[in-house]
Amino acid sequence: MRYFSILAFTLSLLISINVNGQTDESALKTIYSTSLTNGKSYEWLDYLSNEIGGRLSGSKNAELAVQYTKAELEKLGLDKVWLQPVMVPKWERGEKEEAFYLIENQKKNVNICALGGSIATDENGLQANIVEVHDFEELEKLGRENIEGKIVFYNRPMQADLISTFNAYGGCVNQRYAGAMEAAKYGAIGVIVRSMNLRQDDFPHTGSMSYGDLPVEQRIPSAAISTNDANVLSVALKSNKDLQFYFKQNCKQYEDVPSYNVIGEITGSEYPNEYIIVGGHLDSWDLGDGAHDDGAGVVQSMDVLRLLKESGITPKRSIRVVLFMNEENGLRGATEYARVAKENNENHIFALESDAGGFTPRGFSFSANDTNFNQVLGWQSLFKPYLIHYFEQGGSGADVGPLKTETNVVAGLRPDSQRYFDHHHASNDTFEHVNKRELELGAATMTALVYLYDKYGVNPITKETEIKN
Ligand SMILES: [Zn+2]
Repeated sequence: MRYFSILAFTLSLLISINVNGQTDESALKTIYSTSLTNGKSYEWLDYLSNEIGGRLSGSKNAELAVQYTKAELEKLGLDKVWLQPVMVPKWERGEKEEAFYLIENQKKNVNICALGGSIATDENGLQANIVEVHDFEELEKLGRENIEGKIVFYNRPMQADLISTFNAYGGCVNQRYAGAMEAAKYGAIGVIVRSMNLRQDDFPHTGSMSYGDLPVEQRIPSAAISTNDANVLSVALKSNKDLQFYFKQNCKQYEDVPSYNVIGEITGSEYPNEYIIVGGHLDSWDLGDGAHDDGAGVVQSMDVLRLLKESGITPKRSIRVVLFMNEENGLRGATEYARVAKENNENHIFALESDAGGFTPRGFSFSANDTNFNQVLGWQSLFKPYLIHYFEQGGSGADVGPLKTETNVVAGLRPDSQRYFDHHHASNDTFEHVNKRELELGAATMTALVYLYDKYGVNPITKETEIKN
C-alpha cells in the first residue's frame, strides 16, 4: 500500500513535467503563441467561406468542402487522412421566397425564408388569414374552429434577459422545429415563425423543422420571418384581425445522396488505442457562407492537430480531427461516426466539439461524471492567464453527444454567445463577422485541453485502481 502511495506521488511529480522538460504552463503558452502568430484557422475559413460558401448537406458546395478539407489535412503530415461514407438528406431552397400581407389593399412586403425540410407552397403561393400565437398551449386553446384554413404565426421572442443566448434559443426553437406539425393538427394550411434572433433586423433565419409522422398529404409549408417584420405584422394584426397573408416558397426534398465525414489522425505513440477527437460540422445552412456555424469549428479543429505538431508535442494517444457531415438537418455524420467507432471497439476517452461560433472563447461545458469533472477543474487555473476559465458540467455538442459513455468525457468549446444568434442560420453568417484573433484563441483553447487529456488521460482514479489491482 505504502509502496503504491510513494509511487503515485513520484508519478504525480513526474507527470507535471513532460519529456521536453516543459511544464503545462509553458506548453500552453507555446500553444497560444503559435495559434496567434502562426495559426492557419483564419486562412482556411476564408477559403471555406469565400471560395466555397454555404455547404448544405447533399449540395455541390458540401462536396467541394469535403475535397478541400481532406486535401488541406493531407498537407499537414498526419498519420492518416480518410473519408468516411455516409448517406445524407438533400433539400434545396429553389428560387427566393416571396411574402407580403395586405392591409387596406396595400401590399406590405416582408422578409421570409423557407425552413429546412419544409415543403413548397403550390406554384401560385398561398394566401389566407393569419393567426398569431406564442406557444402550443395557446394554439390548443384556439382550437380547430379558429385555426382551420388559416396560417399560424408563431411569435414568441427569444428571452432577452437570459445571459446564455443558447438558453434563450432553447426556449423558442420548438416553434420552428415542431410548429408546422402542431398547427397541422388543427387544420392550419401554413406556418410563419418568428426568427430565432435576439436582434431587431431584416434577416430571416432558417433551420431544421420536422413533420414527425404526419402523413405527406397533411404537411404544410413553413417559413421564418425576420424579427422586424414579425413585430410589424403583429402590430398590423392587432388593428386588423382579418388581414390576408401571402407567401410562396419553392423548396424541394430529394432522395438521400452519398457524402462523407472527413477524418485525420495522429496515431498515439504510447496508447494508440485510446482516442481523443476534436471536431465541428462541415455542412451549413445555405443562406450565408456558414462562417460561424460551423466553419469556425471546422477550421479550429483542423488547427488543433497542426498546432500540436507546430508546438513540438508528440501525442501519446491517438488524436483525430473529425469534420462531421449533416449536423444541421439530420446528424447523419455524427451517427455514422459513433456507429463505426462502436463497431471497431474504439475507446474514445475524450471528444471535443466547437459548434457555438468563432467568438472569444470563455471555457468549456463538459458532459462528465463527478470524478472526471473534478479532474478537469484541476486544470482550470492553467486557462486563467487567457481569461478562459468558465468550466461547466452539463452539455457538449450535437456531433460528439453520440460518443458519450459512462466513463469518458465529451465537451463543447464555449465562446461568448451574445452575438451568435444575430448570425445563426441567416444570410449574414459570413466570414467578415468572424474575428481572426477570437477564432485563433478558440483553436488554441481546444488544443490546450487536448494536450492535457493526451498527457494525463481520463479518469485517473480508475487508472490508479487498475494499478493497485
Ligand atoms: Zn452548428
